[in-house]
Amino acid sequence: MQFGGVQKTSFIDYPGEISAVLFTQGCNYSCAYCHNADLIAFKESADESERVIADLLTRKKNVDAVTITGGEPTVQRDLPQFMKRLKDEGFKVKLDTNGSNPDSVKMILSKGLADYMAMDAKTSLKRYPELAFTGVSERVQATSRIIMDSGVDYEFRTTAFPPLVGESEMEDMAQWLSGAENYFLQQFNPGHTNHPSAKLIAPYSVKTLSRLLDIIRPRVKNASLRGVDVPTPVEKCSC
Ligand code: SF4
Repeated sequence: MQFGGVQKTSFIDYPGEISAVLFTQGCNYSCAYCHNADLIAFKESADESERVIADLLTRKKNVDAVTITGGEPTVQRDLPQFMKRLKDEGFKVKLDTNGSNPDSVKMILSKGLADYMAMDAKTSLKRYPELAFTGVSERVQATSRIIMDSGVDYEFRTTAFPPLVGESEMEDMAQWLSGAENYFLQQFNPGHTNHPSAKLIAPYSVKTLSRLLDIIRPRVKNASLRGVDVPTPVEKCSC
């Protein structure tokens, strides 16, 4: 495993848990708004798995959950073995993914290696190739279905980057993710971006975010805003 950083303690990355956060190095997308742009490049380095696990074990009294994020964790070939090591040591494990590797996610879930899954839904399925590669739409659709059918706790989340997320994209995602358990619409932060042009994009107002969230709310069980400075209670739909 190649890591680009470790956050020793987080109260927000793993719902209901205090977790360490491991940032893997390398991503197969190139989102203009990415706030972890330093993690996109693939770099050759020695396997750091055992060093990272040894460090986690020294803090196990205080942190018994681990969030693996990126970059994109599923591009690391030894991710399943690494997650098994964490599970064998008694950690709860949350995996963040951009959804591009359905086979990897399927294998991880079938072996019981993840306790919580968080998958990005970045835009409408038809616009996905703008972010990544031809064929990515089918892959993210397959991954979302695998997660929803897994029985593992999960969430989908969308960063509301205005050029990629408007009413029509929300309508597409509402169909795509229909029946999902938890959905978050996250505020876009122009402070840290992958592409300089993204810094010039103004984030949506909370009012607009709420209006966009209302498009998907009837199709999912729990829908909330995230990353905005107002109280955003989780609401359940009546269907
Ligand atoms: S936002 Fe996520 S999927 Fe997109 S480039 Fe950054 S790490 Fe990769």
